[in-house]
Amino acid sequence: MNIVRNLVQRRRGKRITGAAGLVEAGLIEPADAASCEDAAQAMPIGIPAALAERLQGRDPNDPLVRQFVPAAAENWFSAQELCDPIGDGANAPVPGIVHRYPDRVLLMPVLSCPAYCRFCFRRHAVGDGRMKPELLDAALSYIANTPGIWEVILSGGDPLILSPDRLGALLGRLDRIRHVKTIRIHSRVPALDPERISDTMIAALNRSKPVWIVLHCNHPDEIDAPARAAVARLIDAGIPMLSQTVLLKGINDDPATMEALMRRLIENRIKPYYLHHGDLARGTSHFRTTLAAGRALIRRLRGRLSGIAQPTYVLDIPGGHGKVPAGPCWITRDEEDAGWLAEDISGVRHPYADEIEPGAPE
Ligand SMILES: *Cc1c(COP(=O)(O)O)cnc(C)c1O
Repeated sequence: MNIVRNLVQRRRGKRITGAAGLVEAGLIEPADAASCEDAAQAMPIGIPAALAERLQGRDPNDPLVRQFVPAAAENWFSAQELCDPIGDGANAPVPGIVHRYPDRVLLMPVLSCPAYCRFCFRRHAVGDGRMKPELLDAALSYIANTPGIWEVILSGGDPLILSPDRLGALLGRLDRIRHVKTIRIHSRVPALDPERISDTMIAALNRSKPVWIVLHCNHPDEIDAPARAAVARLIDAGIPMLSQTVLLKGINDDPATMEALMRRLIENRIKPYYLHHGDLARGTSHFRTTLAAGRALIRRLRGRLSGIAQPTYVLDIPGGHGKVPAGPCWITRDEEDAGWLAEDISGVRHPYADEIEPGAPE
């Protein structure tokens, strides 16, 4: 029994957690270890074994490699970058909760992830592990005592790094709060660490209230055969799935890649939800592009891609002011005749009048 388990573990390899592991796996040159160590001071390195295997032999500029292997540029800071770019701290009534909108809260039961994304906006906070039981109790009391909370969003960290037992217990407690009607989980696990989506995990997710999973996914390559199978297991078990993508320079900011990603999501029954403009997290300028570029990309998608595959492009306003749609505006006021101008996908503007006389019998 033990021998079998040892063999399986050896075959699976180890999760990479530091610069030495990156060198050993051939993912960086020894000369780059020092800058990786520096980057790991700001946020841990984490790459699950199966993902590391997928990254081996790829170019350093590969879209998957760049998301998880630190670059020297991560140690370069720009004056506009912020330690808490979306202002979690401005809306934290108790530890582990961010309450920014009236009807929903973020609950962060765990601040670790199987894989650490090098552009993470919560890089100042992640890596810390599970919430202490008494803090989790206090966070759940806050939810139970705030009747306006209709939805609880598990975030972090990656909530699906929790064991099925722990996650099931937490979901059970949320299930019992009467005014909480729906639960959402934000995760990269189904694509990046699909082994965790076991039968026991699926059983833990099966609650009386709806549990939605929002898959964070940035490149079509992330959805390989094991990922597709994990997603199918979740959806077949009745868990609806959405996606969120971060707009990343050189990774998915070209129309062909973004289009392929959105198509792949729909082909796997995942509805594209948000495309996030890159947050002003420290040391992430090499990943960011401009709003103008993002809008041009969204315009292209609108012209080429099925309506059900369109994500909403959003900006999280620094300082804790929340997310707003950031995409191009197709309908503008016509200054000349007080009507509207509606732009079609080829850029031609058409007048549209809505303030017109109601119909009347002849
Ligand atoms: C992103 C976020 C949400 C979720 O926003 P939706 O627009 O409902 O997806 C909720 N609370 C906080 C604090 C957030 O940052």
